[in-house]
Amino acid sequence: MSTAPLLLWFRKDLRLADNHALAAAVETGRPVIPVYIREPGHDGSGPLGGAQAWFLHHSLAALDKALKHAGSRLICRSGKAGDALFALIEETGADTIHWNRRYDPAGMQHDSALKTDLKKNGLTVESFAGHLMHEPSKLKTKSGTPYKVYTPFWRALDADYDPPEPVSAPDKIKHPHKWPDSETRTDWALLPTKPDWAAEFSDLWTPGEGGAHKRLERFLDEGLDRYETGRDFPARDVTSGLSPHLALGEISPASIWHATRNLDHDLRDAVVKFRKELAWRDFCYHLLYHFPKLDRDNWNDKFDDFPWETNSKAFKAWTKGATGYPIVDAGMRQLWRHGIMHNRVRMIAASFLIKDLMIDWRRGERWFRDTLVDADPASNAANWQWVAGSGADASPFFRIFNPVLQGEKFDPDGAYIREFVPELKDLEKRYIHKPFEAPADVLKKAGVELGKHYPKPIVDHKQARDTALGAYKKLSG
Ligand code: FAD
Repeated sequence: MSTAPLLLWFRKDLRLADNHALAAAVETGRPVIPVYIREPGHDGSGPLGGAQAWFLHHSLAALDKALKHAGSRLICRSGKAGDALFALIEETGADTIHWNRRYDPAGMQHDSALKTDLKKNGLTVESFAGHLMHEPSKLKTKSGTPYKVYTPFWRALDADYDPPEPVSAPDKIKHPHKWPDSETRTDWALLPTKPDWAAEFSDLWTPGEGGAHKRLERFLDEGLDRYETGRDFPARDVTSGLSPHLALGEISPASIWHATRNLDHDLRDAVVKFRKELAWRDFCYHLLYHFPKLDRDNWNDKFDDFPWETNSKAFKAWTKGATGYPIVDAGMRQLWRHGIMHNRVRMIAASFLIKDLMIDWRRGERWFRDTLVDADPASNAANWQWVAGSGADASPFFRIFNPVLQGEKFDPDGAYIREFVPELKDLEKRYIHKPFEAPADVLKKAGVELGKHYPKPIVDHKQARDTALGAYKKLSG
């Protein structure tokens, strides 16, 4: 049996608990060298957005700290992953590499080529599961095809999924006689400087495994019982907030699933609802795995002829939260301030971009990828296509959200608007979602002059809706 060190390559699994690649490495009794490789311009799975880079910086610091607690440390290298790994092998004499699998097309292609290369050079490579609840290659319909519809996918997953007790974080990780050099993470410039648009992120987020588990505990104590009824209301803090932690693998979906076992009987329906949402993440990966161009091509190629507008001015107004529709603007400004947007509002803002402005969903997908701390190659692409109507099991194109009615339904008191669009904070409740309909004296009383303090609507929703439906009708023949 070899006594050479073993490289543990961290990617989207920045945790010690329920990390099967790590547990198996510790089990060998050999020295373990944990490594993270920064590949400039991307993260191995696609471009690394600015907001997630902020999260990653802090998550790596937390991982290093946790490793040090177990007598180890994180070695950071940059460059092409293959070059960095071969250099480390040369420097340390390691003969085995462990990693947890990723399931996005770029990451998989990368890993498969690298595995072949490493094996050709006499190295042992072992990969492990844990990023998802299911292996996309294994879960199949009765006719042996991939799932394209969510409900049967959920049923199959729910029937089959029974994660064992998550493996604990190791108390001790055997270290090598001599550590290889590590780069300094601050040199990677993952944090914004001028301007520091992430200034408020740390009020909301605690990147790292500890932060992820605290969020889960808080959700189980304070959010879960109101989840079913409250999850669509952006001003109610009842959803888990786990998505950025899941995106970087600071917590495993199996640990979350496990934590929702054996809860109060009264919570049963809430648990099922929550698990169903968690399963959407898996479904998105299932789609991406079987349709690797999900972020580039319409799933339904009928949409290839859609007459998208290239309206840069309108796109800019959308990104800045200056469309004149408060619920859309609040969402887009929440994204700037906190790197996140409530799911209901994501649907409204995405629908507005695609159907009111007729701007290609791919531009919205790219904007979200750069600005969300939870940016995820599968969930982002699949949800954009869902809203556009071009995706698998998607919302039909003709379902066009009315931003005023959606606002009135899901933010009835306007609390969400008042938080993220403060110039409207003194506006009467009945006009908070449609300031453009407020009489002059009401606007004056609230200190709002439309076009000066807050924009006039950049499109008329009714007209825009008719135009979009007309374009869709032509498409349908
Ligand atoms: P909770 O309600 O607490 O749900 C628990 C977990 O379930 C989430 O953390 C998430 O992992 C998963 N989940 C919930 N809803 C969905 C969903 N619709 N699709 C996939 N997984 C889901 N989610 C991302 O993680 N990354 C993205 O890049 C992303 N982009 C999106 C883009 C658009 C246009 C839309 C409409 C949705 C997008 N979502 C994305 C899905 C969803 O908005 C977020 O997962 C959710 O808001 C995260 O908040 P939470 O953790 O409090 O969710």
